[in-house]
Amino acid sequence: MTGTAGAGIPESLTALRGVGPALVERLARLGVTRPADLLFLLPVRYEDRTRVTPVGALVPGLRAVVEAEVTLTEVVFRRRRSLLCRVSDGTGQLTLRFFYFSKAQQDALARGARVRCYGEARSGPGGLEIVHPEYRVLATGEAVTLEDTLTPIYPATEGLQQFRLRPLVGQAIDRFLPLLPDWLEGGLSGSPALPGLRAALLYMHRPPPGADLGQLAAGRHPCQRRLALEEMLAHHLSLRRLRERARTEHAVALPGDGALRRRFLDGLGFPLTAGQHAALAEIDADLAQPHPMMRLVQGDVGCGKTVVAAAAALQAVAHGHQVAVMAPTELLTEQHRRSFSRWFEPLGVQVTWLSGSLTRRERVRAYEAIGTGSAQVVIGTHALFQEGLAYRSLALMVVDEQHRFGVHQRLALMQKGAAGDIRPHQLVMTATPIPRTLAMTMYADLDTSVIRELPPGRTPVQTVALPDRRRAEVVARVREAARAGHRAYWVCPLIEDSEELEFQAAESTHAMLREALPELAVGLVHGRMKGEAKDHAMREFAAGRLQVLVATTVIEVGVDVPEATLMIIENAERMGLAQLHQLRGRVGRGAATSTCVLLYQAPLAGVARERLEVLRDTSDGFLVAQKDLELRGPGEVLGTRQTGLMQLRVADLLRDADLAADAQRLGRILLERAPAAVEPLIRRWIGDADRFGSV
Ligand code: ADP
Ligand code: MG
Repeated sequence: MTGTAGAGIPESLTALRGVGPALVERLARLGVTRPADLLFLLPVRYEDRTRVTPVGALVPGLRAVVEAEVTLTEVVFRRRRSLLCRVSDGTGQLTLRFFYFSKAQQDALARGARVRCYGEARSGPGGLEIVHPEYRVLATGEAVTLEDTLTPIYPATEGLQQFRLRPLVGQAIDRFLPLLPDWLEGGLSGSPALPGLRAALLYMHRPPPGADLGQLAAGRHPCQRRLALEEMLAHHLSLRRLRERARTEHAVALPGDGALRRRFLDGLGFPLTAGQHAALAEIDADLAQPHPMMRLVQGDVGCGKTVVAAAAALQAVAHGHQVAVMAPTELLTEQHRRSFSRWFEPLGVQVTWLSGSLTRRERVRAYEAIGTGSAQVVIGTHALFQEGLAYRSLALMVVDEQHRFGVHQRLALMQKGAAGDIRPHQLVMTATPIPRTLAMTMYADLDTSVIRELPPGRTPVQTVALPDRRRAEVVARVREAARAGHRAYWVCPLIEDSEELEFQAAESTHAMLREALPELAVGLVHGRMKGEAKDHAMREFAAGRLQVLVATTVIEVGVDVPEATLMIIENAERMGLAQLHQLRGRVGRGAATSTCVLLYQAPLAGVARERLEVLRDTSDGFLVAQKDLELRGPGEVLGTRQTGLMQLRVADLLRDADLAADAQRLGRILLERAPAAVEPLIRRWIGDADRFGSV
């Protein structure tokens, strides 16, 4: 077969001028192993250096090229020694601020010098300023050269700067883009509104002056949609292939006789909901087959997925096999350990917890028990599939909160759990509501069960939104709740993905609450704490030795403390709807009425206001997800973390959910009319990640 990238496109990076072994290695870190991959290395953002912006037209947040004359340069010592350079172009004044500078720099920026600089304008103490701009002092009479297209900024990796990457991508575009095959050509894409592949890529690498940067930043440009469609198609095809492969693979058939299961259900103290029954029936039908089950159970927080998983686990245990229950964090594994032990120990079923906090001796013992099969249910993080850990007979693997694990990671684990040609059954559980078409497209390797209702007897969580200045009232509520024997979470926000700032916010809130509520025990958990310390804090809270738990968003998923009736979320306006909904799901798990207080910084902007209103009015996770889609406007990048369902480059599963049906339809057509394109299409977008599925 000729090169899969396209006829005439070489397979080796060294075919590019200026690329030697050292560069090949660095490019590999960006997932670039062939020249064609460079075409798909998409800019993370753009800079507009196509025009000079008058100083008077600058606004905070705008990145621009400015040309102006220095009116004053001085070193100041306020808080920090810095060099301030005031410049003016007749339309306005601007300060260039440097914290690191040399004497030579200071001298060159003397009064009267003409400078051209690029950077982001911000409001500073003395009006607009740019901190550490890129700048150049212009020689007298020097003509200004500007770029013809917007400047792409590519994903960075160590030792590979933009100025080296840009010409390489440029070379790939000039030489190979015309040769790149478009498999959705000829009306195949069925979406006349979307451009062709080559046009879309060209636009992404070299957007013309005047391109709508807001639209590009929001990922809603037609060129991005064209690429997102193809990316979703590639994932869909790869998942379909995995699904088909699984149907030919072997697993232990686990038909139910139901005795152990019945004892478990009888001991629960509550009947299953209709949704739980239905999901379990689907699981049972799968487990009875000699092929691996691959099933996703989707259900809102608190709908009782764990009980369903436990009932499924007993099926494997009843047949003398083992079950691995995997969760993304230590905290969650600890919680599962508690639930499973409580339910299973009375049945004589051995539950083993593979925690990071085990001593060496305990670990050796656990490994032994897993190897001999005396550990019937094993709970842990991905440590469950560590090198050197062998199961005697693993028949089922349960993966909780799926969106924290990539599809391929999960599949790789399943391969590791295999013995000979026998694969474990897989049960995946997620609280992320996924629209049906999206699930069918992007979870094509999984069958789906949906649990729609919550167990009866729960009072819906009351949700109120309050401006931050009413914090004192909220503190008083915490006091009241504690007096009534209840507990409260106080969640601090995610700050610009900065763990440091997130940590600081949590620390200071913790200090504030301890001072305001000296009679209460106030705990703290944050992302910086070791697993053990986190678990300890959670345990203290669950046991009631702490009445208030200040937390960063680490408690996001799955924690179950029925006595917690108050959830306070700070800076709620910054969080995505789905994340807020998940957090809110931490309360309202017991009989008492629970309240969720969304604290916000006034004034609220339009979309943020709507988001909080949705939450106030809706408790249905599917509706919340739907609204989330509708409300995500341009620039709405916060909250994208919640969609880390798989590693995607262009597509965003929530934003581009409307393309899912198209991707699925195209998948069918392509398999029928151009099956030879399937493999290269998958390779183009997913590269080597797919290899996990074909071990
Ligand atoms: P999630 O789906 O969020 O993982 P859990 O499995 O943690 O939910 O269940 C939440 C709580 O509801 C647990 O305390 C669990 O014991 C309880 N629960 C589960 N199913 C039922 C039911 N059918 N009736 C009453 N309570 C239930
Ligand atoms: Mg759960």
